[in-house]
Amino acid sequence: MISYEKFGLKEVINASGRMTILGVSKVSEKVLAAQRFGGEHFFEMSDLMVQTGKYLADLLKTEDAQIMSSASAGIAQSVAAVIGEGSLYHVYHPYTDRIDKREIILPKGHNVDYGTPVEVMVEQGGGKVVEAGYANMCSPEHLEMMITPASAAILYIKSHHTVQKSMLSVEEAATVAKKYRLPLIVDAAAEEDLFKYTQAGADLVIYSGAKAMEGPSAGLVIGKKEYVEWVRLQSKGIGRSMKIGKDNILGFTQAVADYLTKGNEAGELMKQRLTPFITAVNQIDGLEAKIVQDGAGRDIYRASVKAAGPKPAKTIITELKEENPAIYTREYQANNGIIEFDIRSVDEQELTKIVQRLQEIMK
Ligand SMILES: *Cc1c(COP(=O)(O)O)cnc(C)c1O
Repeated sequence: MISYEKFGLKEVINASGRMTILGVSKVSEKVLAAQRFGGEHFFEMSDLMVQTGKYLADLLKTEDAQIMSSASAGIAQSVAAVIGEGSLYHVYHPYTDRIDKREIILPKGHNVDYGTPVEVMVEQGGGKVVEAGYANMCSPEHLEMMITPASAAILYIKSHHTVQKSMLSVEEAATVAKKYRLPLIVDAAAEEDLFKYTQAGADLVIYSGAKAMEGPSAGLVIGKKEYVEWVRLQSKGIGRSMKIGKDNILGFTQAVADYLTKGNEAGELMKQRLTPFITAVNQIDGLEAKIVQDGAGRDIYRASVKAAGPKPAKTIITELKEENPAIYTREYQANNGIIEFDIRSVDEQELTKIVQRLQEIMK
């Protein structure tokens, strides 16, 4: 039997959100059943890729789709796709100097590290990042002035990790891309809306399977048929080292279908589940708790707990991780003395354990 003990691992309560370092999310019974069907059967694999892609494209009202091993693989293979434009020579020689159109224009404020720098994935795909604009702004004009005959695509990262201030919109980037006949790639890895960015005019849109959609480890590239076909071609080249298994292809497809019918937990429900937790934490000396909405305005509510006593927030955060189960919180506000608890993947029993642990730590 598999267990935490077997490998000497600590159990983890994930109150931090969809964090890659903790395994991102948990899958549902239905998704597990789909993974199991995948694991227990054989398929004509190229058909499995094409047909699940077609099924998802229909659901997402777009021309085509291709499942990948991760959103990162989606970035690398989309970049390779727009550079190679369907050339088989390029698939087998992805970094050839026969092709000199390799520049990927990226707003400077989008050149972030989401766990890996965006730039590393672009370079893996054979692209060369050309930054547009400045650390605090990028306008359509800033994008335009970087376009040359060496430009292969515009890349737009839609994420809470990026600079939001004075940043052009996806629609504006799409207008520039159309004017110069360049493809627009949007990395929307953690975003919740699976329709918005193709509708805004992006040619390829990339999602991460285990984030909003709570699928198994996977990625998804959707968009214009021709481009998705070029992406699919990469599985004969650089895509091979990013292969996804049949179990996860089926599990992820199920997760997308379920996500579209039931969506994520509503913010209202999170508030309800948080209320007894807030009351309990407020009874602990040195802690002040309240409910706050997600900083990027998503329908996500979290507990914001202020360390008001002598013990600093950073020490409390460290102590929460030390015991078994290890409790992980959202640490972005720790410098301001605030610990955030994201309960999307936390059940009632775990909430009780968190309160108990906080009581012990604050004694
Ligand atoms: C998480 C994330 C990725 C990477 O997703 P993986 O599926 O883990 O490769 C890429 N871009 C952004 C903006 C992300 O938040």
